Amino acid sequence: MLDQIKGLHHVTSMARDARENNDFFTHKLGLRRVKKTVNFDAPDVYHLYYADEAGTPGTVMTYFPFPNIARGRPGTGEVGTTVFSVPEGTLGFWEQRLAEQGVTGIERGELFGEKRLAFDGPDGDGFALVEVRDDDRAPWTQGGVAADDAIRGFHSASMRLQDAGATAELLKFMGYEEIDKAGNTVRLAVKGDSNGADIIDVETLPVVSHARQGAGSVHHIAFAVENRAKQLEVRKALMDTGYQVTPVIDRDYFWAIYFRTPGGVLFEVATNEPGFDRDEDTAHLGEALKLPTQHEHLRKYLEQHLQPIED
Ligand code: ZN
Repeated sequence: MLDQIKGLHHVTSMARDARENNDFFTHKLGLRRVKKTVNFDAPDVYHLYYADEAGTPGTVMTYFPFPNIARGRPGTGEVGTTVFSVPEGTLGFWEQRLAEQGVTGIERGELFGEKRLAFDGPDGDGFALVEVRDDDRAPWTQGGVAADDAIRGFHSASMRLQDAGATAELLKFMGYEEIDKAGNTVRLAVKGDSNGADIIDVETLPVVSHARQGAGSVHHIAFAVENRAKQLEVRKALMDTGYQVTPVIDRDYFWAIYFRTPGGVLFEVATNEPGFDRDEDTAHLGEALKLPTQHEHLRKYLEQHLQPIED
């Protein structure tokens, strides 16, 4: 069993409208936009990153806003709910705040003894807030939400699968252990020390058809490793187990490897190094359009054609 993975690194989803997406995560949820760049494989599409102050792994929600993309159809073989951690006793505040801002799908619930508040993202994305006692991660406090209420980072990601068995086994191989079970949902958590974003829920829905990815769908989830050496250890172990893993890819702010899991969800393993301050000061993260070297020659075109988004 591996011990290099320290929790989630980031969650990447698809959206239809960059401006609406930016408004939702910065103004409604109070996260910080820590990077405004482009999809390295399709540079006419933004890649927007929302997180805590520094873009700490385990707090980073990212989006590809594809203009005119159709909305996804929820189903199995995907991450159905991305869950953020908020302090104990704040769900009332959040319920009122999100309702006032016109957020849809707001619903109180409880899972594994934790109070949660489900809500829809800008394209019907499945989100929830969960009250966590003593989450000591420092929140971003300049986003219009007081420090006592603000999002701390990810609590978990919840996958919906037709058959959870092989994916649960994979997660155990990756260093997770089963810590609870409720109905058709199994909860796994990182066994060793983690960055706080240490939970994956796996829900089994044998007769629900496969999702069709689109706006509001999670594209992939990334797991955090400290550095490139640990990443290579994970890559080798996965390949020795029979997984087809991509070569290491430079994403400028982290190094990435990807592989498809048995249940259909795309997994990534991303390094904590070098981080989001490698090309701009922490004080000004996310303000300027940053382009990878290979796309810098497109800057003029992209600055004219990418939809302007507010700060
Ligand atoms: Zn990624």
